[in-house]
Amino acid sequence: ATMPPLLSAIANAGRHGVLVKSAVVMERLGQVDAVALDKTGTLTEGTPRVTDVRPLAGAGPDEDGLPAGAGPDEDGLLALAASAEHPSEHPLARAVVDAARARGLDLAPAADFASTPGVGVTATVAGRTVAVGAPAHRLGTARPLGTADPAAGRATPPTIGSAADPATDPTTAPARATAAPAPAADLTSTHGTPARPIDPVRSLGTADPTVPPADARTATPVTARAAAVAAELERSGRTAVLVEVDGVPVGVLGIADRLRPDAAATVTALTALTGTAPVLLTGDNPRAAARLAAEVGITDVRAGLLPQDKVAAVREQEGAGRKVLVVGDGVNDAPALAAAHTGVAMGRAGSDLALETADAVIVRDELATVPAVVALSRRARSLVV
Ligand code: ADP
Ligand code: MG
Repeated sequence: ATMPPLLSAIANAGRHGVLVKSAVVMERLGQVDAVALDKTGTLTEGTPRVTDVRPLAGAGPDEDGLPAGAGPDEDGLLALAASAEHPSEHPLARAVVDAARARGLDLAPAADFASTPGVGVTATVAGRTVAVGAPAHRLGTARPLGTADPAAGRATPPTIGSAADPATDPTTAPARATAAPAPAADLTSTHGTPARPIDPVRSLGTADPTVPPADARTATPVTARAAAVAAELERSGRTAVLVEVDGVPVGVLGIADRLRPDAAATVTALTALTGTAPVLLTGDNPRAAARLAAEVGITDVRAGLLPQDKVAAVREQEGAGRKVLVVGDGVNDAPALAAAHTGVAMGRAGSDLALETADAVIVRDELATVPAVVALSRRARSLVV
């Protein structure tokens, strides 16, 4: 017997490096008439690198309200961030850990690790609460943490640094001014790197009682400076990542990722196939998102999205009668992949959750195979009687 067209199409997709999970999926791929693309790891290669390490405290009391030398220096900042990020599988976390290793820095062990998709991570490093993540969510330049989002008519989920978190609650947080000196940490390297020893916590120095308590969501000189550094990095297309210790910003990292070589061609091909340009759905900041979108020819950009915001964006289009193809790679994309008419995951660097949730997986790591399988599906469907 000759193979049914949809099964041949699955085999053909496999030769293109795309794992289509069923004949039903193979058929649905050809029905899509709108596309939503994730940014980091989907339009970009997903191997970001740390390009900027900017401690906030080096400038002294006049500029940022912190005593000179009170915060970590470059290496201390990077080691601290990497210690907290070490357990994370997020591409940004890998970039931070790799950068620390490249400088030969030792990491401190992290306890109480927690990650919030689309926001960042927290961990206890040598007794201090270290938070690493999106400046907008931590500095309150996005909607305030733990407050109702009037646009969506629901409360935002608990996130790192929420008011219920005693480590960052302004009413209970041990501010820098009153924080106990850092306890002697077990700074055994978790990587066995024969590195020059660095103590990311001791480099914070001892607290100065004359410094007023700082809180991440009130405008203090140091939070204003953190926001300014983050904005500067974002304007140059970087992802800015804020590092806080016990709720106080201590530095900002700039991270950059390369556009995939086939990103622009893929956007063009998908536009031709569906009659509409894809939309960009990203948890990253609007400045970096807009810059990258312009390079590939996308005009509809939704940035600063949490996982459920990506779902809402998909539902909005499906409510308008569209059949939406979502392409993503992260844990943060999984709910949108599930909500989509058809979900496709990037396989090489994609998270396990995204790969399991998606209807199809791009195994060979070529974004251009997405329009190719849509076209394959349409051809197969035209042969099905
Ligand atoms: P995208 O939607 O572009 O794939 P994500 O939703 O994964 O991006 O992440 C959105 C933002 O959340 C990042 O740009 C970063 O600011 C922050 N973030 C998420 N996870 C981490 C992490 N492990 N370390 C630092 N920042 C993080
Ligand atoms: Mg992603």
